[in-house]
Amino acid sequence: MFKKSFKVKIILPTFAVLVALVVVINIFLAFRFLAMREKLIDEKLVANINTLNLFLDESESNSKAAAVSMALNPEVIEAVRERDTYELLRIFNPMQDLYRINYYIIADAEGTVLARTHEPEHSGDSVASQPNIADALNGKVSSYFETGYIVKVSVCAGAPVYDTDGTLIGVISAGIRFDTPDTVQVLKKLLNSEVTVFFGDTRIATTITREGQNLIGTQLDPGIAEIVIKEKQEFTGEAEIFGEKYKVFYKPLLDAQNEVFATFFSGMPEKELIIESNKSIRDGIILGLGGLVVSAMLLFFIVSTISKPITVLTGDMNHIADGDLHVDINIKGEDEVGHLGKSLNKIANILRKLLDDINIMIAEQEKGNTNYVLNTEEFHGDYEKLASNILELAAISMKDQLTGMPNRRSFDNRLEVEWQRALREQESISILMMDIDKFKNYNDTFGHQQGDVTLQTISKTITQSLKRVTDFAARWGGEEFVVLLPNTEKEGAVIVAENIRKAIENELIPCSDERGRKATISIGTNTLIPKPDDKIPEFITAADAALYRAKETGRNKVCHSPKDM
Ligand code: GH3
Ligand code: MG
Ligand code: MG
Repeated sequence: MFKKSFKVKIILPTFAVLVALVVVINIFLAFRFLAMREKLIDEKLVANINTLNLFLDESESNSKAAAVSMALNPEVIEAVRERDTYELLRIFNPMQDLYRINYYIIADAEGTVLARTHEPEHSGDSVASQPNIADALNGKVSSYFETGYIVKVSVCAGAPVYDTDGTLIGVISAGIRFDTPDTVQVLKKLLNSEVTVFFGDTRIATTITREGQNLIGTQLDPGIAEIVIKEKQEFTGEAEIFGEKYKVFYKPLLDAQNEVFATFFSGMPEKELIIESNKSIRDGIILGLGGLVVSAMLLFFIVSTISKPITVLTGDMNHIADGDLHVDINIKGEDEVGHLGKSLNKIANILRKLLDDINIMIAEQEKGNTNYVLNTEEFHGDYEKLASNILELAAISMKDQLTGMPNRRSFDNRLEVEWQRALREQESISILMMDIDKFKNYNDTFGHQQGDVTLQTISKTITQSLKRVTDFAARWGGEEFVVLLPNTEKEGAVIVAENIRKAIENELIPCSDERGRKATISIGTNTLIPKPDDKIPEFITAADAALYRAKETGRNKVCHSPKDM
């Protein structure tokens, strides 16, 4: 219906802006997210490096604390002094869990093993060459990353055991293993990444799994081995591990001789990271699209809610504009459209009322009731002006301009009504046709202006001569007047006519010279009880004929129709 409706004007541009907004925001967020992802991964790698270093440091201090505290234990001193392997195992076994130690080695002052917690049946061999034990035999507490025959990668701390007299009677070595599946699982949890421990360049423990493929025993990438093992440098960056890209960190472990004998690896597969972040981007896009759909629906609903009453209102207004005032504008609500509807309803009501009132007024006037007054009180402002102007126009249309008395049109209306009434009631109705005598001469002698004054004076005299409210006088035209006397017999009509004639005859018409002018009038009357076949024009013509006779027979007289009267 409307080519450029509200819906088109509001929804399309708003939706376009929304789409553009969602696209721009999504693109912006995706870029930001990708940049942030890189940063986050790098930061995570750095955090992993720090955590791993901390873990290794803690392991060193743990092992030292575990060795020293046991070396000071009087029961231990006693058992070492007595070389009581059984007693030593009894004391040390429960201590492993307490200090989170994988194994203890207890040796005498020569470095000969008295007890091993991880190999209780194996003792009597010498461990004097192990750096931490060598240091302890020299009275020094120290820790080293070491490799041994059974334990490939570990940190070991040694502490001297002194007898009560201060003699060094043995050493205690506490070790924490890094080459077990347990260690890498603990580290995986700690670092939230895959963890591998290399012995030399060979994997001896790892959390990375490949279906049907044993990764233990496989070799470190030679390029990385070059950096980490030969150059003893840490390595951070990207690396391909079994065909998959990883963000990686390699940390070489140095032994007492400052040689790299093992390497820690911490890494996150890029694929997982990308899948994870792509999922986030996808969720963002879905959320954006969802929001877009909801916004569009909301927009459509809001615009429909607003435009619906406006469309209805426009339709109603078109009716009013096309001239149909009988439209009920049924817009409710307290918003602007509701108020607009109420205002338009008010305008339509006022116009309707005005139209109805004018119709009533015209109907009344057609019934000859020129006194019907339009009540303009209920109209305000310009409507009041309109109503009073219409009223004035209506009055003008029924009045003679010169004399102010009812005009011919007004008389015709009244005659029609009274005629019908007389016909209905079978009452007499009388008419007086009047014509000023020799008025042409009068005009010629005294001038037209004086003629007008005379017409005004005579019209007043005629009107004042009538006694009943139903009597009705009008200007017929020129110097002719007419009087309608409802419910009046011919005798009454003649009396009224004679009264008028005499009043005019006796009247001094105002004029510029003091004497005043005289004028006379001739009157023809007619009376009838109308029958259905009777016609108004014939009724008038008969009165006219009587007037003609009055003129013929001397003027300034009254003649009645028919002739015999
Ligand atoms: P008669 O006695 O036969 O009626 O003679 P008369 O002169 O009155 O008749 P006639 O019909 O020939 O003249 C009518 C005159 O009335 C003509 C015109 O000058 C005058 N008249 C008509 N209307 C007006 C008017 O509105 N004002 C004035 N001043 N004169 C008018
Ligand atoms: Mg005349
Ligand atoms: Mg005349």
